[in-house]
Amino acid sequence: MNEVSVRFAPSPTGFLHVGGARTALFNYLFARHNKGKFVLRIEDTDQERSEKEFLDEILTSLKWIGIDWDEGPIYQSERFGIYQEQAQKLLSTGLAYEEKTERGVAIRYKPKTESIKFNDLIRGEIEFKEGFEDIVIMKSDGTPTYNFACVIDDAQGGITHIIRGEDHISNTPKQIVLYKALKFNVPCFAHLPLILGEDRSRLSKRHGAVALSAYKDEGYLPQALFNFLALLGWSPGDNREILTKKELMNLFTLDRINKSNAVFDVEKLKWMNKRYLKNTSDADFKKEVSVFIEREGYLNDYQALEDDKRDDLFRLLKPRAHTFKEYAQNLNYIFSSDYPKDAEAVKKHLSEEKNNEMFSALKERFKKIEDFSKEKIEQEIRALAVEINAEAKELIHPLRVLLTGREVSPPLFELMEILGRDEVLVRIESFLT
Ligand code: GLU
Repeated sequence: MNEVSVRFAPSPTGFLHVGGARTALFNYLFARHNKGKFVLRIEDTDQERSEKEFLDEILTSLKWIGIDWDEGPIYQSERFGIYQEQAQKLLSTGLAYEEKTERGVAIRYKPKTESIKFNDLIRGEIEFKEGFEDIVIMKSDGTPTYNFACVIDDAQGGITHIIRGEDHISNTPKQIVLYKALKFNVPCFAHLPLILGEDRSRLSKRHGAVALSAYKDEGYLPQALFNFLALLGWSPGDNREILTKKELMNLFTLDRINKSNAVFDVEKLKWMNKRYLKNTSDADFKKEVSVFIEREGYLNDYQALEDDKRDDLFRLLKPRAHTFKEYAQNLNYIFSSDYPKDAEAVKKHLSEEKNNEMFSALKERFKKIEDFSKEKIEQEIRALAVEINAEAKELIHPLRVLLTGREVSPPLFELMEILGRDEVLVRIESFLT
């Protein structure tokens, strides 16, 4: 049997989106699983719409997520002569004909068939009984159409399996016609299910970020995305969800690809990313997160913290972070006096009259503590609770909302120790006045 050979063939007319990344990933895993070859081809025949910026972004995104290719990039724009040559061949056999248009001469191929059947490795047998009008193979500007160039490159490149999105399924019968016309072997086809947003419509910008690079900017780890995308339409056959690249390569087979569409569940991605972040070494985490802290504008303050306070903060925030960006944004209530306040939390916990008295009393107690440590802070809060005959949580919840702007935060006493007495008193004071 031939060595397995697959390719990913993006057009540099836009950023690499998660759907494209998933296609690349499945091809890559399939190649690695079968010890075959993974080729990267750039379909840049439309030179007006192809842009260097998009090309660079696609290559960077692929490398970022951990997909490397064995061959390429092969640029279609460097192969125009080959497409011309193949078109001439079809013309000379009389199977294709020239068509004069306003802009020049196009070339069409006239299929001799009325139906095409093929066995899709995911969807099973598919038959097309229409759509066999004459196929444009060369446009009047002398460039090949997608279907023509694609067939020639796949055939000449010895591609054995075409794994691509379901949106290309209607191109497949035309391509099979062209394989046969050019006397090439027809490869196997596997069309991947669509990726849907949570409302079950096709994933698009409306659903949020679709460019892979946006996930990098949001502070996701490439390993987490790799794992997440691998499970978009494929599963290992058991309940495992956290799988390393190695495990995925070992397990990946086409028969485990679902026929039904996959749903892009951002909450799941966040959960997964949190798991990966937890397992990141402290050193790596610190290195990566500093870019995000800088973007939020807290890097100077962060670095100016005493070492042990910064370490405490790190210890509190790292295991709770879903993304690097979230980690950095959670510094807002540490370093900024006008941190956002969750309106609902404020309404629920800070709107009662009796809070004023409680905060005044706390303030006095905090002033008198000798060292403002988490143990002492807790002691004072509990002592006051007993004194006013309240439960400790009746003090802690409002205090948390006051100091962090939110209902959920890392352990409050530890945060307060990091904030320091002066800052805590300032915040209580400003609430009271
Ligand atoms: N350039 C095409 C695309 O980006 C490739 C389709 C294919 O894989 O055949 O959709």
